[in-house]
Amino acid sequence: MGGAVLRLKRGRERARVHPWVFKGDVADVVDVEPGSVVTVVDPTGGFVGRGFYNPRPALCCRILTWQDEAIDAGFWRRRMEAALAYRERAGVETTSIRLVWSEADGLPGLVVDRYRGVLAVQCLTFGMMRARADVVAALRGVLGDLPVFAVDDPVPARLEGFEPLRGWLDTPGPPSIIVDETGAACVVHFGVTFGTGHKTGLYLDQRDNRIRVGALANGRDVLDAFSYTAGFACHALVGGARRAICLESSPDAVAGARENLALNGVSLRAEVRAVNAFDELRRLDRARERFGLVALDPPPFARGRETVEAARRGYKEINLRAMRLLAPGGILATFSCSHHVSVQDFEEVCRDAASDAGATLRVLATLTQSADHPILLSVPETHYLKGLLLERVD
Ligand code: SAH
Repeated sequence: MGGAVLRLKRGRERARVHPWVFKGDVADVVDVEPGSVVTVVDPTGGFVGRGFYNPRPALCCRILTWQDEAIDAGFWRRRMEAALAYRERAGVETTSIRLVWSEADGLPGLVVDRYRGVLAVQCLTFGMMRARADVVAALRGVLGDLPVFAVDDPVPARLEGFEPLRGWLDTPGPPSIIVDETGAACVVHFGVTFGTGHKTGLYLDQRDNRIRVGALANGRDVLDAFSYTAGFACHALVGGARRAICLESSPDAVAGARENLALNGVSLRAEVRAVNAFDELRRLDRARERFGLVALDPPPFARGRETVEAARRGYKEINLRAMRLLAPGGILATFSCSHHVSVQDFEEVCRDAASDAGATLRVLATLTQSADHPILLSVPETHYLKGLLLERVD
């Protein structure tokens, strides 16, 4: 087998199906540099998998493969090809797409998004950071010689103990780009400026839901709460909504929202309020404003298990307000992206909110992340975006 070995404790063999190994799962591990590849073995020395090891975080090893294979150029290339082939089969055809999504693509610690001819690459673990050049070589081998923008997230980088990289890797690409999201009846444009904004630029996970909401918006008054750069509002307005109000607290996102509304030629029917959405939802309710369509897409309220209860209270509060704001026949698209809040938890919270709001709501659909953010049955954390499309029937 060769190389450094990490031996699991007895009874901690979850790592056979789930790529995460925590410090508490480890019986012993040789002293290796952070970010080295280790071979994970069971208590009797049997091969389990191979992954990147970092002694610093509690989640100390993420398994890259359950095959006894080398983590080399061939490995990276096979993984990239598999990720692309899945997206082709899934029919994700768009100018902005998540090409690699970490655990869900067998590449824990790596996110790759494509915005037209630019790749945005995010390394989330020490091992991936060290492997960045190999990863990019494999990507370019499959996709051609595209410019690469490194967009490491400082929070995991700090946990893992490396300096997050932000900027063009070698050859610079364009400072910004306009991408399209195409629904059944219309095309919506979004600006992406590399190095600014959340995620790698856009919340690509919500693409299908934005398109769906846009198709329901004709003639309605829309509220896009926690709007980021007005994704839902742009789709709704291009889809024929009468007017839209966006609520967003981050100044950069507010500016981006105004730019996107202008880009789509719908500014005259839109208003972006730089506010705390919690306060503004309450205020709108007190003012007896009513909307035919509300999108409610807050940031993750539960960042860890210990905050789930507080998160549930937060979700209940905003859903209660949003439900009260619905005109008869109004539609609410409501989401949670906290992976610690389960589908059942979220439904329960919405049920409680509906009961307090005195609203009868029909479930038109259950919603989740777009297909370029695949869900692995054995890794429940990959199913993080939960949503309900609700219609007020009373
Ligand atoms: N629906 C958006 C993504 C929303 S992400 C899209 O499709 O692109 C959640 C947004 O909520 C972020 O932009 C964040 O800045 C914003 N936010 C977080 N807390 C907030 C608060 N208290 N009030 C208003 N906006 C908030």
